[in-house]
Amino acid sequence: MVLKAKILTIFPEIFPGFLGTSLTGRALEDGIWQLEAINIRDYAFDKHGSVDDTPCGGGAGMIMRPDVLGAAIEHNHTGGKIIYMSPKGMPLTQAKVHELSKEENLTIICGRFEGIDERVLEEYSIEEISIGDYILTGGEQAAMVMLDAVVRLLPGVLGNAQSTENESFEQKLLEYPQYTRPIEWKGRKVPDVLMSGHHENIAKWQRQQALQITKNRRPDLLEKMLDSE
Ligand code: SAH
Repeated sequence: MVLKAKILTIFPEIFPGFLGTSLTGRALEDGIWQLEAINIRDYAFDKHGSVDDTPCGGGAGMIMRPDVLGAAIEHNHTGGKIIYMSPKGMPLTQAKVHELSKEENLTIICGRFEGIDERVLEEYSIEEISIGDYILTGGEQAAMVMLDAVVRLLPGVLGNAQSTENESFEQKLLEYPQYTRPIEWKGRKVPDVLMSGHHENIAKWQRQQALQITKNRRPDLLEKMLDSE
């Protein structure tokens, strides 16, 4: 199965952007996933390519028109989920990323200005996803972040299938601290236990560290973990 991602945007030239480098870029070259950036302006009804208009009821900024965006969706959506990157959406979590990595088609709408006309969301049963509690200038950045996390989980993208297992969020805890050589640097030593070769003690230490870090930084995650156990 090959994930086919279609991006609806007024800045198609941004893509593939950082998705074209490193692991996600190689996976794109290898055909593990496909990316098509569609210019919403191509579906405008006037020669200026206008895609936005002023908000009904007043207020600042511009809103993306439902008719133009609707035409872009209808010409390009060939099945699967339609997602709108939106600060009002459900937060993107690693659980959600896993869910999306099982899809064959993802059509992703990137908003600009003050966002899009609400009726588009209703008409096409669009799912809204947020990448965090802050406001970006556009959905393109958010779409790339989401796709980066999704593509990383596709079979064949990471060299070592095991390498996602202990990561932050996979076990509902933040990751324990990691070290590499040199063993001593600027007077700071790698914790002895990690050099002991004692696998059980190492695992115990890593678990304790993960718990402590999670308790200090993200008590909300610990509570969620206890609730689900
Ligand atoms: N007026 C809107 C914000 C518009 S920001 C509001 O208050 O909700 C412009 C575009 O950037 C949005 O249409 C959306 O596609 C994207 N965007 C901004 N912040 C985002 C976030 N945290 N997650 C996902 N997309 C976001």
